[in-house]
Amino acid sequence: MIAASRRHEWYAGASDTGLVRPGNEDAYLMEPPLFAVADGLGGHRAGEIASTIAVETLYAHAPKHADAKGLARAVRAANAAVIEAAEQGRGREGMGTTLTAAMVDGTRIALAHVGDSRAYLLARGELVQLTEDHSLVGDMVRSGTLSAEAARVHPNRSVITRALGSDPNMVADAFEVDASPGDRLLLCTDGLTGMLEDAAIAEVLRTAPTPKAAVARLIAAANDAGGHDNITVIVVDIGADRPRDGRAGAAEHGAPAAVAGESVRRPRRTWLARLAWALALVAAVGTAVLAAQSYARSQAYLAVVDGRVAVYRGVPGEFAGVHLRWLEQVTDVPVSELDPVTAARLERGIRVDSLAAALDLVAAYRSQAAREPSPSVAPTATP
Ligand code: MG
Repeated sequence: MIAASRRHEWYAGASDTGLVRPGNEDAYLMEPPLFAVADGLGGHRAGEIASTIAVETLYAHAPKHADAKGLARAVRAANAAVIEAAEQGRGREGMGTTLTAAMVDGTRIALAHVGDSRAYLLARGELVQLTEDHSLVGDMVRSGTLSAEAARVHPNRSVITRALGSDPNMVADAFEVDASPGDRLLLCTDGLTGMLEDAAIAEVLRTAPTPKAAVARLIAAANDAGGHDNITVIVVDIGADRPRDGRAGAAEHGAPAAVAGESVRRPRRTWLARLAWALALVAAVGTAVLAAQSYARSQAYLAVVDGRVAVYRGVPGEFAGVHLRWLEQVTDVPVSELDPVTAARLERGIRVDSLAAALDLVAAYRSQAAREPSPSVAPTATP
């Protein structure tokens, strides 16, 4: 869904799953003058959680004007929020996200950026990449050992060297740019830039009559080229006569924030009372979930991941719709080498009362796997 409206034709954005990925782990935010894209990492929906937390926290901490230092502080807050969420069992450990944020104040643009999503400016018809990719291939391009074209198809192109969610001392690139009226700002995830050369992106930005048309054409072109990744695009037309609606003003208009392809309206003040009741209910459920979580964290169980014995902290199944489990490790013990009864029990999850007990059991299975001939060649005598 595109969050632009007749009132806001100067910007538009959209997110598309693409043609290959099972879900969309990108998120984006359009709360003028603040715009951001985030590309979540971690799989199994954890990336989606990370990217959503990042843009929501960015919004909550963003400065009122195009102030790069203030924007960098908001990105640091987003980093802390993603790390904290993983520690609390939301998403999972190791999840992360890129974040590329821009505040547009007339012709002044403040940017803060981490990862390999990008900001570009079409300035007087020429496309300029404003951000540097924090990625392995980005480093190689900067050091002159790889061309930008080779980087686009390099097998390690998705390895990023800086992201939100791992390092509490992460530093964001932050800077301000003076644009001119008529310039066009583009924020995008690598699902666009991995599929389209800069020349093709520039051509769309030069010729599309509106930001909305540019967004639609860029996403269509990325999908035509294969749509290998989630594609998120925001296009903002820079104009000197832009209404400088502060963030409070934007909230009064109920300006939409879009997250992971969905348009989300922020609650109006009249909804606050209802919201308070809802929060009280959530807090009650949350307290029960927290109690269950602290119990679950002391527990452990063994299960099967990709045909191998895996060690989880937590308990199998779910509580109040929440999974209380944290993958500790996938061991090198193949389940196919164990006796069929053990294999069947592992499929359901074998509970033990500590991580140490789980690891002892793994050691026992490892020696069993070393002894046991494969069940496919020798029928087992185990009842
Ligand atoms: Mg991506």
